[in-house]
Amino acid sequence: MEWVKESLEGWKKERLLRTLKPVRCAGHGRVCIGEAEYINFSSNDYLGLAGHPGLLEEGIKAANEYGTSSSASRLMSGDLCVHHQLEDRMAGFIGKEKALLFGSGYLANIGLIPALCDKKDVIFSDRLNHASIVDGILLSGARFFRFRHNDLNHLEDLLKRERKRFKKALIVTESVFSMDGDRIPLKEMVELKERYDALFMLDEAHAVGVFGKTGAGVAEEYGLASGVDIIIGTFGKALGSYGAYVAASRSLIDYCINRARSFIYSTALPPSVIGASIKGVKMLAEEPFRRRVLLEKATYFRGVLKEKGLNVRGASQIVPVIVGENAATLKISDLLQKDFVFALAVRPPTVPRAEARIRFSVTYHHSEEDLHRVADVLKNAFQQVRPLHNATFFSSGKEGEKINRRNT
Ligand code: PMP
Repeated sequence: MEWVKESLEGWKKERLLRTLKPVRCAGHGRVCIGEAEYINFSSNDYLGLAGHPGLLEEGIKAANEYGTSSSASRLMSGDLCVHHQLEDRMAGFIGKEKALLFGSGYLANIGLIPALCDKKDVIFSDRLNHASIVDGILLSGARFFRFRHNDLNHLEDLLKRERKRFKKALIVTESVFSMDGDRIPLKEMVELKERYDALFMLDEAHAVGVFGKTGAGVAEEYGLASGVDIIIGTFGKALGSYGAYVAASRSLIDYCINRARSFIYSTALPPSVIGASIKGVKMLAEEPFRRRVLLEKATYFRGVLKEKGLNVRGASQIVPVIVGENAATLKISDLLQKDFVFALAVRPPTVPRAEARIRFSVTYHHSEEDLHRVADVLKNAFQQVRPLHNATFFSSGKEGEKINRRNT
């Protein structure tokens, strides 16, 4: 077992060792660690629904009616009426014929992609796609090509060069990128998928509940749900619950029920979670102001950080501030915690090398005062760390772009 210890020591030296940090939820965008309370910027509870009494009540009601577990996979005896209620609601909400629930977004991506593609097929994937998409691609055995982040020209070059050599083609991307907070040029992507006869799969994990007229995501915002073949989203972020959905044509969903192994061979989501998810989705119609207020706050926060000269990315509720070096990023995150701000460092391999960052998730519960205080604390932390390193913290991020190109 020496190799285990050596790996751990190596990661520690490179400041890449990950450790768990137990917290207690204090509600209203706050967490407690020990006795201390922090403003929480590392949660995906964008609309502040995770502690909402309505979701709790519906979760408890479903548990009272069906028990605490589904006790089997959907294809055995775990197929409960509540699963169908949520699926029917999601199909209508997303604007597709049918929806299917998965245990989580991770399980949806690693089940769906291998169900759709095999070694005769080709997949084109944005190079910043989430690990679950990457793992799904690897499991499928298909040939795959990564296109530069949101780069339509690069994607088209690859499609032109490679599409004809394969049976099926799949383009897969996210609508709001989890670590960069930016959004995709959806209209142009749909045009490309049509021109090159490819399937198009869109992961709306960070967009559902936040974007679109009714909160259904970026596809809804552009009026392009019909141009996307497969839409995936999660309940564990803005919707305040847990699990994931896949929405597509009736035949494609029926195909997945027969082929997606992470659906077939896994216990169905528990009733309490489904009850909370149904209420989470209902809340989008009952309290539409939550997403409007959230996006106003995020725009405001991004503006304040930019005014302070920080290297900020994105155009959503996810507001990453690029630091560069791992050690400096960890130090800044520690300094933030000393000031009761919980905003964790994100390091490679989650993000490209030399692009370590502090990822701020703005949520509905953060007040304007919170945002101002955090911006001041962050600027201070940068100033304290800067003399220790040569990184150009207050640059335009050109460094990162160079690295992106080199790695592609
Ligand atoms: N897709 C994306 C884009 C994500 O960011 C995440 C999680 N952060 C997932 C899928 C996985 O979802 P889950 O947490 O429900 O497994």
